[in-house]
Order: sequence, then structure tokens, then C-alpha cells
Amino acid sequence: MPFRLRSAKLGAAPEDPRRMTSHLFEPRLVNDAFGDPGLYVDFRDERRALLVDVGDIGALAPRSLMRLTHVFVTHTHMDHFSGFDRLLAVVLGRKERLAFLGGPGFVDQVEHKLRAYTWNVVHRYEVELVIEALEVGLDGHGRRASFSSRRRFEREDDGIFEPSGDVLHDEAAFRVRGRLVDHDIPCLSFAIEEKAHVRVDRDRVAGLGFTPGAWLRALKQAVLAGAPDAAPIEVRWRDRDGEHRAVRTVGELRPVVLDVVAGRRIGYATDLRFTEANVRALGELLAGVDVLYIESVFLDRDADQAARKNHLTARQAGTIARAVGARSIVPFHFSPRYEGRAEELRSEALAAWKATSPPCSG
Ligand SMILES: [Zn+2]
Ligand SMILES: [Zn+2]
Repeated sequence: MPFRLRSAKLGAAPEDPRRMTSHLFEPRLVNDAFGDPGLYVDFRDERRALLVDVGDIGALAPRSLMRLTHVFVTHTHMDHFSGFDRLLAVVLGRKERLAFLGGPGFVDQVEHKLRAYTWNVVHRYEVELVIEALEVGLDGHGRRASFSSRRRFEREDDGIFEPSGDVLHDEAAFRVRGRLVDHDIPCLSFAIEEKAHVRVDRDRVAGLGFTPGAWLRALKQAVLAGAPDAAPIEVRWRDRDGEHRAVRTVGELRPVVLDVVAGRRIGYATDLRFTEANVRALGELLAGVDVLYIESVFLDRDADQAARKNHLTARQAGTIARAVGARSIVPFHFSPRYEGRAEELRSEALAAWKATSPPCSG
């Protein structure tokens, strides 16, 4: 029988698997780097996800699309917006709400998408679908409208959308910020920011005689929200005697908490020109992000082509990632002309990010 070293008495290393490090969400590109751009941000503990850009989303299963609550659209070039139709087809009659947020003119464009179809029976569907459209204007003020399947997706609730600064969406556990950059047309770049998270120790949970469960999430939320020690948490746990339920206070449960960690920040920047103003805007939005998804459409030797098409080269992308202090970088949105040469684009971007190559002229 193999001998196994137990290290439970030793000090816990940061990677200790007993510690339930739970990032709120897990991001992944929808397609490979040559496919349509899109980032699927999956929430770990909740049946919920966000999507940034909605081009070809054929790689996402209907189950994944059903989890979406919000779709953030950088701009409405087809490779970023054509998947609206597939998404609508999947959620229609099954989902109650879906919010879309985009840049100038976006509410009209959502309306035009919806008007392109014939809706003579949809008002009778049992599950009402309400599509909410929000747009950020050039001056930072915005507008909103909603469209209900009950009323054949007529535009309603036309009104004002007032983001606070660059915070476009704000919830207890995370926020989404966005800034307009220049892609010949205005185009949004996004920062998806987990506010902070709580790490707990499995051994300490067991030490209290409990098993992990939904109560742990409630405790984490209470800690993050700064709840007082007297705040009650309903704990449910199982042991060999079966199911139990008791009320404990945040103060009593606090010993399972190891620490509160600054939230993870994800940057998404695609479809933009390499200009000083853009680099400055991204610096304000993305300073110190943990991971930066950034377009790297052309090789730097084709910089003229990149400038004509209002895109970045891989080297320019790496230069921006370095300038904003990104802690890691995922280059994507490669031009199909480089099919089979993904590594060249990747290594050019990474070299500029690490500054192992001379700075970019441009
Ligand atoms: Zn694009
Ligand atoms: Zn574009």
C-alpha cells in the first residue's frame, strides 16, 4: 500500500487545496484566436454568466446561453454582434430577462434586430422574455429601452441610462466598467471586476462540525458586505445522522474565514487603433488588471495594414498591456491571413508585454 505523507499539521501554503479559493467567475474565450471575438464569463457558484461580444457563438451550448444575464457589446461590427439572433432563438420562450449593453446607437440597433422578425404568436408564449437594451453615449450619458415578447417586442420604457463615471454595471460582488476607444467608430473596452472575495479553510469548517453548503456563500457575502458580528446566518449541514439546520452569527462563523482577498480584474480590449488617446483611455480603465484579453490582429510587419483597418498589431497590443501593467495577457482576434501562425502573433505580443523587444514605433 503506497505511503502518503499527510501535511495537515504543517503551515498552509498559499496553494493549499484545503483552502477553498473561490474566484467569483471564470473567463474563457468563446472561440479560438482566429474565430469571432467573445468572452464567456462563468460564475462559479451561481447558474449565471456574462458574455462580452456576441459574434459567432455556435461553440456555446444552449445551456451556457441560458445562464447569461448580461451581454456587453463592444461595437456592432458583424463579428461582434451577429450572434444576437442565435442567442434570441435559444432564450425565446425559455428565459425571462436578458440585458444588452453597447455603445452609441445601440438601443436603435437592438430594436432593428428585433424588428427584422415577424412576431405574430410570440405574445402567447408562456414565459415572457424582456430584453433590456442599454447604451452608453459619446458624452458618457446613455439611454435605455426594453422590449417584451408579450407586446411583440415593441420598444418601451424609453429613458435615460446614467452610468456613474465609467461604471456601467454594478452589483454587490462585481462591477463592469467600460470606456469608449477609437476604432474609427466608437467602441467599448471593458473591465470586469470582482470586488473582493473571501477565502475559507475546509479544516476549520469541519472543525466547527459543519459541511460546506449554501450557508458558506451567505457567510462570504455577509463578510464582504461588512455585516456586523451579530448578523444571523442559517447553516444547513449533513452528517451521518442526516440533515441539520441551525442559526449562527457571522461572529461565530468568522473563524472559518482565512482572509479577504482583493477581487480579480479582467480586461477586454478589442477593435481599436494604436493611438495615444486610446492607450490613455485603456490605462485609466485597465490599470493592473490580472488578465488582459487584447486583440492582436496583425503582425507588426503589417502595421500599415493594421492602421488602415483600425486594428492593433500584436506588438502594439503587448505594448499596451505593458503600459497598463497587465499581469497576464491573452492575445486574440487574429486575422485569418495568419492561419497556422498563431504562435508568431502570440510571441510578438508577449515579447512586447515583457519588453524583451525594442519599443513599438507608432
Ligand atoms: Zn472585430
Ligand atoms: Zn470592429
